[in-house]
Amino acid sequence: MPSSEAAGVPEVLVLAGLTGDGEPTRATLEALTAVRVLGEPVAVVLGAPGTAAAVAERLARYGARRVLAGESPALDAHLVGPRVGVLARLVADRSPAAVVVPAGAEGREVAARLAVRTGSGFLTDVVGLAADGTATRSALGGTTVVQARVTTGTPVLAWRAGSLTPVPAPVPAVVEHVPVELSGAREARVTKRVVEPPGGRPALAEAPVVVAVGRGVAGAAEFAAVEELADALGAAIGASRAAVDAGFCPPSALVGQSGTRVTPRLYVAVGISGAAQHWSGVRSAHTVVAVNSDPDAPVFALADFGVVGDVATVVPELTAQITARRA
Ligand code: FAD
Repeated sequence: MPSSEAAGVPEVLVLAGLTGDGEPTRATLEALTAVRVLGEPVAVVLGAPGTAAAVAERLARYGARRVLAGESPALDAHLVGPRVGVLARLVADRSPAAVVVPAGAEGREVAARLAVRTGSGFLTDVVGLAADGTATRSALGGTTVVQARVTTGTPVLAWRAGSLTPVPAPVPAVVEHVPVELSGAREARVTKRVVEPPGGRPALAEAPVVVAVGRGVAGAAEFAAVEELADALGAAIGASRAAVDAGFCPPSALVGQSGTRVTPRLYVAVGISGAAQHWSGVRSAHTVVAVNSDPDAPVFALADFGVVGDVATVVPELTAQITARRA
């Protein structure tokens, strides 16, 4: 029995999401902050051997009383099945008050499968938690806020990044290893992995500045100009569906309801019309600047600042002005 349960304080499991550099994602630190109202935060780190030791101190700094390490080379060799298996076993063994998972594409899949496996209710896009277990959810593309509560099984909650500022609550780092079991031939294997070149840009979901391209960025020269603007701002590059379909950006750059929901201080939308499906991923941006040649483009009703003009002239001028002011 977990020590905290013996003391009457329930554990709340937070699946740690890790960046490419092996750091806990912002959503993970936010979730560790938010779950304190429900019980004792316990981080779950799943990955290759040695993964947990590298992040345990940082997770403990944000209140993780314990770091449960499920480590095996098999985890990276399979899709999410074995990860769900470890979490389902932890739910059965430790009876946590809830399991919280960062709400990326993989996180949502893990959470949904875990809910099915454990016969539990599942809430997505959670942005707040109350002591009675009520979750605040962002719904309908961020236009509506909903209060909801899981009444079946162990609540499985997908936490949306950018919902609060992580607050440190340092505790000693305690790592406990837990078993990773494979259920044999039924587990889907990874047969090939293509690593995108790093490019030196910040990760889209965490970037403080995002420059996003749309269909209006119609040629290679315009896209190169946008890259220069992103370089000048130290920004990540995002994209609308139209820009991804046109092949200018990989699918991982997609911003919106089918892609990443970004939370930057500054979002520069270049040649993007402002469709609802795109904008649902932009709503948490602090300040939005739009560049569009059509003065009636819907994006101007959504942005804080707008520039009516052609990408080919406005973007290089913007870069020149920023570079000159920083010189
Ligand atoms: P457009 O709507 O074609 O806008 C292009 C803009 O560029 C126009 O406003 C135009 O005035 C401007 N422009 C043209 N030339 C220039 C120039 N030279 N200089 C400056 N401006 C110029 N989309 C997403 O982005 N993310 C999603 O997650 C997403 N999910 C979807 C899910 C579903 C179920 C569906 C049905 C659609 C989804 N879409 C998504 C697609 C979405 O509806 C829009 O079609 C898409 O966002 C449009 O991309 P855009 O703004 O780049 O293109």
